[in-house]
Order: sequence, then structure tokens, then C-alpha cells
Amino acid sequence: MKDRKITTKNAQETQEIAGKFVGEIMASREGKGGDKADKRAVLICLWGDLGSGKTTFSQGMAKALGVRETVNSPTFLIMKKYLLSGKRKGMNFYHLDLYRIKDKQEILDLGWKDILNDKNDFVVVEWPEKIGEILPEKRIDIKFDSVSEDERNITFRFL
Ligand code: ADP
Ligand code: MG
Repeated sequence: MKDRKITTKNAQETQEIAGKFVGEIMASREGKGGDKADKRAVLICLWGDLGSGKTTFSQGMAKALGVRETVNSPTFLIMKKYLLSGKRKGMNFYHLDLYRIKDKQEILDLGWKDILNDKNDFVVVEWPEKIGEILPEKRIDIKFDSVSEDERNITFRFL
């Protein structure tokens, strides 16, 4: 998919964009069959400062994928797993917020490699810079920049 940049004017727009984005990702994945099918998880890295919209975007993705619970960022949790319902039942949505981790080992201990090796996993990481050395090359990077109180530039890069 092509790299692109978009500006949103409020949180709801960011969630709508997130929903469209996962729709495209999943259509492309589900459209591939046989040998070309992706054998690993989808990995989305969300880069940007506090308050730039990473969790808001994650909520939009989760909802569009079929997560029924509300995705939030509990201060004491590094990773939370959500089960998808509806037509993607059997898939998992993993939301990671690495803001507070001290060492990449904390993530490896949570089963990071097995999660990424499962094609039924959709993995979203806030603060990916915390585990720069163990980020796979094949991933999607999304960068969030606050332009004003309610405007965000969102840049997509398909690696
Ligand atoms: P992060 O996870 O990057 O720290 P959050 O998504 O938790 O950021 O918070 C973003 C905050 O900015 C929310 O309070 C949200 O309502 C507000 N906001 C205002 N405009 C936007 C926008 N265009 N996109 C996303 N969030 C926005
Ligand atoms: Mg957040």
C-alpha cells in the first residue's frame, strides 16, 4: 500500500480514519490466498507524543475489527489482548502501551515472538521506540503530530 499523510480535525475523525485503514489492511490480507497469504501477525506501530492520538486511533481500529470492549490505556497494563467477534472471530487484537517499560525483556517475557508469529493476531504498539531493536522490519508505521488542539497530522508508512 502507498504511504500517505492525512489531517484530522477531531478525535472522531481520527477513529473513522482508523476504521477505514483497518478495512484496507484486512481486505488486502483476506484477498490473498495460498502461498502468498501472510503467515505472520499484522504489526502496527504508533509513533508520537503524549496526547497526539495514538490511543484514539487504536480505539477506532479495534472497533472496526470487531472488538466489543472499549480499548483504553490502563496505567498498570503493558499489554491487553482482546478477542474479535463477528466475521473475524478467532482473531486477537493486542494493544501494547510501552510508555512505562524499562527493558525490552519485559515484552519478550510476554510472548512477543509467538504473538508476532501468529497470523490471527493484529498487534498495535504505542511507544514502539522503547523496543526499537526488536521491532521486525515488516510493519506499518503511523506517526501522529499535533498541529493544534484538535488537528492531527497522521502519516502512514508501509514497511
Ligand atoms: P495518545 O495515546 O497519543 O497519548 P490519546 O489518543 O490518548 O493520545 O489522546 C488524544 C487526545 O486528543 C484525546 O483527548 C482526544 O479527544 C484529543 N483530540 C483532539 N483532536 C484530536 C484528533 N484530531 N485526533 C485524535 N485525538 C484528538
Ligand atoms: Mg496512548
